[in-house]
Amino acid sequence: MKTSTAPVEYLFDSDVRRLLHPHLPASITDRVIMVEGKGCRLVDSNGRSYLDATGGLWLAQIGHGREEMAEVAAAQMRKLEYFTCFWDFSNDQAIQLAERLAALAPPQIEQVFFTSGGSEGNDAAIKTARFFHYVKGEPKRTWILSRRTAYHGLAYGGGTATGYDDLAEGQGPHLPHVTHLTPPHPYRSSLFVGQDPTDFLVNELEDRIREIGPDNIAAMIGEPIMGVGGMVVPPADYWPRVQQVLRRHGILLIADEVVTAFGRTGSWFASPDVGMEPDIIVTAKGLTSGYIPLGAVLVSDRIGNAVRGFGDGYPVGYTYSGHPVACAIALKNLEIIEHDGLLAAARRTGDFMYQLAAPLASELDIVGEVRHAGMGLAFELVTDSLTRQALPQPNGSIADVIREETGVIVRVSSPTNLVLSPPLVMTQEQAATAVTAVASVLRRARSDGG
Ligand code: PLP
Repeated sequence: MKTSTAPVEYLFDSDVRRLLHPHLPASITDRVIMVEGKGCRLVDSNGRSYLDATGGLWLAQIGHGREEMAEVAAAQMRKLEYFTCFWDFSNDQAIQLAERLAALAPPQIEQVFFTSGGSEGNDAAIKTARFFHYVKGEPKRTWILSRRTAYHGLAYGGGTATGYDDLAEGQGPHLPHVTHLTPPHPYRSSLFVGQDPTDFLVNELEDRIREIGPDNIAAMIGEPIMGVGGMVVPPADYWPRVQQVLRRHGILLIADEVVTAFGRTGSWFASPDVGMEPDIIVTAKGLTSGYIPLGAVLVSDRIGNAVRGFGDGYPVGYTYSGHPVACAIALKNLEIIEHDGLLAAARRTGDFMYQLAAPLASELDIVGEVRHAGMGLAFELVTDSLTRQALPQPNGSIADVIREETGVIVRVSSPTNLVLSPPLVMTQEQAATAVTAVASVLRRARSDGG
């Protein structure tokens, strides 16, 4: 592979001077400047090769650098690069993608609104839920139930639903009428002592609904499986019981499937697998495997017909909603996921990765638990496995050591989980390389005293 033609020193200096990076302290002036990618491998501006075990940020399902994606983008740009989907305008790619998504989605989902990503999608979903109740004559239903350690992006709407206080610091008042419940994370179980976790969580939900007043609540938003929170798979009865309570009170359910949809957990959508029957599903990331920004908010006919049928119609819209090049890319991406059997591959390789990784929980004191769903794997890091005290990883330090020493890119999230979310095309050999790299550094971290 060739490397960048821009002088490397210029790139480094210019990055530090010009680019604002999310979650990067100013004291860190080193950079890894990627210039090429192919399959699961990336090359930086110094010509160093890396194994991508994060799929970028949970999304490179079909792998990097696929020629057919470039061809689809170029062909669509030559034909129609852009026109708006506001008012009565539309385009053939957006229509075909909406049809495809309605066919892949759970049966209750019939209508589609396009965004440019996950945060925008969650904002749109929250607005849609509130507007739905308004249209139905219940304008007081404005509250949104979310959970601590949930991640719903960093725009103001979804960002308020996100359950990390540090991410909201210093930004003034966030969206009003959002409340956070306990996440269904049995390993972090001090709250559940002496009772079944789901009993605790459902009681808490009922109490909170009573406090706020059921007639004031628009929706609950939740990831079927919490990704950033550390691949937290809820107890099997959690979502079905939560859903029952919400239905009883006329509260909508928004599934944030920005991470889970399109194969990450081995299914097109994860919500049916965990017993959710959402009214609204938010997607992004794997929809295009990151080849171009695109998100889709999927809604039932009940929601779609209500919000489009009022006044001047649905009051949410973005310049790039239904962008024809993005939609053409998404159609090709979904075709590849299906044609190449990547859902089954995610289950197969994900199980293989987990089998290799799981023994580390009994071998190493600093690995409290290993969790996975499909091609998402998390190591819960603790100071020791008896106290379960979290081992914080400021600025991703263990991930940085793994990257520097082994060339394998993993990430710290939540902030005490080490997470792998590789492209679904990753081979078992590459998956073994990734887990071995993590294991070697964790073993040493243990012998270094954590
Ligand atoms: N929702 C979930 C579950 C996510 O994991 C993310 C990003 O990681 C988002 C929403 C935000 O998506 P975006 O970064 O595309 O705005």
